Amino acid sequence: MAWKKRVQMLYQRFLSTLGQCDICGNCLHDISSSQQKLLCPSCLNDLPMFNQAIVQGDLLNWPAINKALPNINFDHLICLAPYLPPFTHWLPQLKYQGRFEIASLLATLLAQQWKEQHLTTLTSPADLILSVPLHINKWQIRGYNQAHLLAQPLAQSLQLPYDEVTLVRTQNNTSQVGKTGKERRQTLANAFTLAKELPNDIKHIIVVDDVLTTGSTANEISKILKHAGASKVTIVTVCLTLPHTNH
Ligand SMILES: [Zn+2]
Repeated sequence: MAWKKRVQMLYQRFLSTLGQCDICGNCLHDISSSQQKLLCPSCLNDLPMFNQAIVQGDLLNWPAINKALPNINFDHLICLAPYLPPFTHWLPQLKYQGRFEIASLLATLLAQQWKEQHLTTLTSPADLILSVPLHINKWQIRGYNQAHLLAQPLAQSLQLPYDEVTLVRTQNNTSQVGKTGKERRQTLANAFTLAKELPNDIKHIIVVDDVLTTGSTANEISKILKHAGASKVTIVTVCLTLPHTNH
């Protein structure tokens, strides 16, 4: 089946070079004034996003999420969508195939989500945006960090400072896929550090990643940031996928 996926991927790339919708293939020429060049308006409206009104913009208000993510250290969780198509195609294409135009669209949607959330609910203004870092070895192999590609335009859109150097991943972990929450937490203990101290006026930090699975990475980073003086950490990811394994 691998060749089928490969053909589908090449076809989608071909469509995007022609200015056609990444999902339905319709021509995008009529919406050339639009900020994003990836989707037609219909497919954009049809994206399977979370109903933010139900959770007041924060998925931690959803009891099922709270149950699935015990003992969390972060204060808010903002995700665009469950890990379903087309996100299940887009995130690997962004992560492994360098389709950077996907990051641009997703960052725009995250910025919209953040702004709408501020209109309705929550939270103190954020002071700083960070992205979940890759280990330097992995970064050198891949050549880029997908979380950085999301966080940088998000920060720009929200007019917030963005720091991609202070938070550092010190362990080059093997893939977390298939591990239980407990195994992930053990692997991630001491996996991150801060390369320098946080300024005193940094209180509320947004941490951006592509997907949240068990919350172990987000938890570990939140712990470090709070130890360093942050009073509030908001996790912002494109997708949320919860494990079916026991914690
Ligand atoms: Zn479309």
